[in-house]
Amino acid sequence: MTQDILSTSQQWLEIQQPNMLALLEDLVNIDSNSYDKAGVSEVFDRLEAFFAPFGLKLESHYVGEVRAAVSVRVKGKSDTGRPVLLMGHCDTVFPKGEVSRRPFRIDGARAYGPGVADMKAGIVMNAFILAALTRAADTLLPDVIGLFTCDEEIGSPLSKEIIESFAKQVGWVFNAEPGRPSGNVITGRKGGVFLEMDIEGKAAHSGANFAEGISAISELAHKVIALDQLTDIEQGVTVNVGLVNGGQSVNTSAPSAKASIDLRVFNLEQRNSVLGRMQCICNKQFITGTISRMNIIGEFRPFVPTQESLQLFELYQSELAAIGHHAEQEFSGGCADSGVTSSLGAVTLCATGPVGGKFHTPDEYVEIDTIVPRAVAVLRTLARLPQAGF
Ligand SMILES: [Zn+2]
Repeated sequence: MTQDILSTSQQWLEIQQPNMLALLEDLVNIDSNSYDKAGVSEVFDRLEAFFAPFGLKLESHYVGEVRAAVSVRVKGKSDTGRPVLLMGHCDTVFPKGEVSRRPFRIDGARAYGPGVADMKAGIVMNAFILAALTRAADTLLPDVIGLFTCDEEIGSPLSKEIIESFAKQVGWVFNAEPGRPSGNVITGRKGGVFLEMDIEGKAAHSGANFAEGISAISELAHKVIALDQLTDIEQGVTVNVGLVNGGQSVNTSAPSAKASIDLRVFNLEQRNSVLGRMQCICNKQFITGTISRMNIIGEFRPFVPTQESLQLFELYQSELAAIGHHAEQEFSGGCADSGVTSSLGAVTLCATGPVGGKFHTPDEYVEIDTIVPRAVAVLRTLARLPQAGF
């Protein structure tokens, strides 16, 4: 029976906290900024070593020369069809050298270190769930795939296509981003588009030949004001010009200027409409003679809740309650890979990872006592997917 063999997996998971912390310490103590591909690959190597004794082989997915993701598959026996995806990113926002300044440490009930919650604890959790499933062979469980990626923190430019190809194969996705400080999980997220606008002007000496100059910086200033006007907080649309640079010297009219822009939306209709208006602003010449171009350099689709994704949340919530824990659902303005999978129709739940807080700061922490229960909750939920009529 699924029930009995599942409980073998669950019982094994319940005594893994010391081993989970050991793996977490190893992973946190590897610098793995999104641009540090060697560091991220080292995290992949450590996972490979973890999986080997369970008879699980990692498959590497390359984009060009870069090892952009690794995956592992635990075969199930379910005829109900589509596999389950346990997803997570191995990169962090912290620069190389951060680990030597503040390595992994435990203080009371919390663990600290770069990326400890976002999301190395989630990676550890998923790895242990997959290992636990090897003890549940010959059950009615669906196939379960673990996917570990390299660049979520910068918009998944390399791993996006890999995630998309998995999203099309699977029925359900558990994304192990950290649980919120309250323990809540995430059932909806804004979409985000990251753009660059490049403006060309014309250099001229600002004393001797002022009239010959065309200032790209002045053009940019007009455009920034126009872009700001696209924000509509009530509708969930925000446009943030987060970075600008330009110019050559104080006494030269600026031959070039550049802005980096972050657009957030609730849904795809808003995305398309606002992008169209941004393109108009880009095309408009506020200052004659300037030339402007706009490019999308990264994007997360919105994670729009569906009836099925809310049902998946309810199933998860009841399994978490069965082991004495509680979670509500939350919407987040932040983007994640869950937007990629849900926009392709995979029924998705996000922030199933261990509970933490202060993400992307030196005070980031994970609550140690949540690692095992959050793992057990995902295990129990995925085991019940076939019975739940999904
Ligand atoms: Zn994250």
